[in-house]
Amino acid sequence: MTVEARIKSLQKKLNQYNYEYHVLDQPTIEDSEYDALLRELIELEQQHPEFKTDDSPTVRVGGVVLDKFEKVKHDTPMLSLGNAFNEEDLRAFDHRITQAVGSVQYMCELKIDGLAVSLKYEDGKFIQGLTRGDGTTGENITENLKTIHNIRLSIEEPLSFEVRGEAFMSKDVFKSLNESRESEGLDTFKNPRNSAAGSLRQLDSRLASKRKLDIFLYSVNDLTEINASTQHEALSRLDTLKFKTNQERSLKDNIEGVLDYIKYWTEHRHDLRYEIDGIVIKVNDLEQQQQLGFTEKSPRWAIAYKFPAEEVETYLHDVELSI
Ligand code: NAD
Repeated sequence: MTVEARIKSLQKKLNQYNYEYHVLDQPTIEDSEYDALLRELIELEQQHPEFKTDDSPTVRVGGVVLDKFEKVKHDTPMLSLGNAFNEEDLRAFDHRITQAVGSVQYMCELKIDGLAVSLKYEDGKFIQGLTRGDGTTGENITENLKTIHNIRLSIEEPLSFEVRGEAFMSKDVFKSLNESRESEGLDTFKNPRNSAAGSLRQLDSRLASKRKLDIFLYSVNDLTEINASTQHEALSRLDTLKFKTNQERSLKDNIEGVLDYIKYWTEHRHDLRYEIDGIVIKVNDLEQQQQLGFTEKSPRWAIAYKFPAEEVETYLHDVELSI
């Protein structure tokens, strides 16, 4: 097969997998397989940029917008994250960052395996909740999001701002949902992520409310709105405003600290009550973030380290043990 044919074939396959994952909420391959194919495509397109097209899965945020929901344009795009799969990728990321802006602190956060959502507040009231959609336009799922108890419907300060986070289903809720679906003779969900995404994209919000979803908020669109100049301050400020943030986070002074944090969570990820698929590493300082800027698909100041594939086996093992 020629390089051009391989690139075309990978683009086609990945677009189909994106559709199954983001539209149908029913992936047919494991995330690690998807990530490996995407990585191959990125490398081939880098070596042969003449075959890179504008609609390649490497330049687009993966999701789509379902017609059944009102479509709303994001005030600022909801992007994806670049990926790192090993120490070498992380050191290369660190090298790029420090070359550009000098020494930095990194905020390390758990990468929750759920669905990215944005919540808009006006004068302290929750007025609109959107999915990431295709990154530019999202689906209006405000009513479904209101059923998540951990989402503040109003806050004590009359702030107008947008906060973003990950809606997810805990492992316990997922297990009991599948058990009851099985006893009713219904199809079971493949994993908590797809189950959460499917639940939030139900037209009937009573259904979403039965699914007991949860959320962690992890970013604020305009940090100056909440008087924060670092990611660390932003998260603390969200805590003060009584938003639910993940307390499992850690500020590191250099890449060695980041690597230690990753090592710890690679060993302990299954102790958590929810699924994570990696660690997100963000340059802490807002000014440095602004200097680094964005690519078409992701911020240059952050990266998602993905755990090596093993989750599925472990998860199935958990299920088997509990039967
Ligand atoms: P991504 O999952 O690599 O990273 C971006 C996302 O991370 C953000 O949108 C956000 O939702 C999430 N996130 C979780 N915790 C976060 C935190 N603390 N801070 C910031 N962001 C956080 O990229 P993606 O574009 O969302 O999707 C790609 C993912 O979907 C990959 O994991 C891929 O394997 C999977 N996928 C799988 C298939 C399949 O067929 N199996 C198909 C398409 C995509």
